[in-house]
Amino acid sequence: MDISLFTATWVSVLSVFAVWVFVMILGPNRMFRDTIVERTHIYLTTSLPERINGFLRVTIGESAMASAERVGTALFGRRNPIFQIFAIVLYLLGVGVFFIEAAPMIPNRYVGSWQWITIGLALAVNMTSYTLACIKDPGIVGAENVDSACALFAPDQLLYFEAKCRTCHLRKPARSKHCSACGHCIQMMDHHCIWLNNCVGLYNARYFLVFLVSFANICIYGSYIFATTLLELRHVRGLVDTMVWDDDAMDMVMLSFKSSILHLMDESVLLAIVTVLLFVLTPAILFFSAYQIRIGMLGYTSNEESKWLTVDDAIRDGVVFCIHGEDGAGMSNGEMGGGVFELVEKEDQDADLRAKTLVTRLSQVKNHYDRGAWQNLVLLMCPPQSPTRHSKPHVH
Ligand SMILES: [Zn+2]
Ligand SMILES: [Zn+2]
Repeated sequence: MDISLFTATWVSVLSVFAVWVFVMILGPNRMFRDTIVERTHIYLTTSLPERINGFLRVTIGESAMASAERVGTALFGRRNPIFQIFAIVLYLLGVGVFFIEAAPMIPNRYVGSWQWITIGLALAVNMTSYTLACIKDPGIVGAENVDSACALFAPDQLLYFEAKCRTCHLRKPARSKHCSACGHCIQMMDHHCIWLNNCVGLYNARYFLVFLVSFANICIYGSYIFATTLLELRHVRGLVDTMVWDDDAMDMVMLSFKSSILHLMDESVLLAIVTVLLFVLTPAILFFSAYQIRIGMLGYTSNEESKWLTVDDAIRDGVVFCIHGEDGAGMSNGEMGGGVFELVEKEDQDADLRAKTLVTRLSQVKNHYDRGAWQNLVLLMCPPQSPTRHSKPHVH
């Protein structure tokens, strides 16, 4: 028995979708620098939209393009719940398929009834953390808390300097970033997440991390539950010992495992779609969760990741120096940990007579916000409470 055209089509579509998710989530990350993942990400986010833009400008005209751009800005440039609703609907559809197709078959020979407790817990933790990540204040900087926000982290003179936000007209706390979608500076900003319709920052990063880990758990656990439901169905439908006619052997043979699963995929389409979706999404979600935990433990945010990439570029260009103090500070055992790092452009390097060492590797530059893996995690999970900050998220 061969895979049907219908099954082949939706399995291919879901696989392409999973590759897209993988590239979109992980393409900008440092670990995929100079790889096909980064190049595909650049192509999908820059070159391809430019080509489509050029093509549309010719075919539908300038005025239609201007309206399309306004729709684009409304969708991606401002806070709006469209992607959040899309994510929730997709999630609930998955949960719905579980209750309709898999739940009636629990307990079975693979899943005991006690697993109702673990299934309930997994869903509860995941939904609660998602809700909290969506509604909690990520760390909006306002006039009433700007001073306490600025006192949290000192500018490191490499990624952050004393500055004022051009939009908020308030002092810009180190590690914060202005989010144009939310319209505020956000303390220890990680990124603006369209699926949460909220920024991920100092005060909701903990819910976001719990959500990611529990979602990775849901994907793995869900894959197990759905896959074992298919295996159970093999038994229930009697496909385990079914004899079928084989043209080549000119005899009755046992239905193979692969054929029985393909048969069930055709028969229980919804169950099969969710199973394959979970299988293809799990690696991307796992990778992303591991990445977020990793950078959290290393003491930087996704936002700072891109800043470090810029520093890395400058190091490759040979313009980053460790400036030594008069007392020789900045050179301890050949390391540059204690020094001040500064960018000196090529044309100014001869005129600059200060004692300095050329930085050749990013690892030579100290991250001032790295307090050690454990303390970095503590900062994320138990952020310092600021008495004057908002207790509710900003509502437009
Ligand atoms: Zn701002
Ligand atoms: Zn935002």
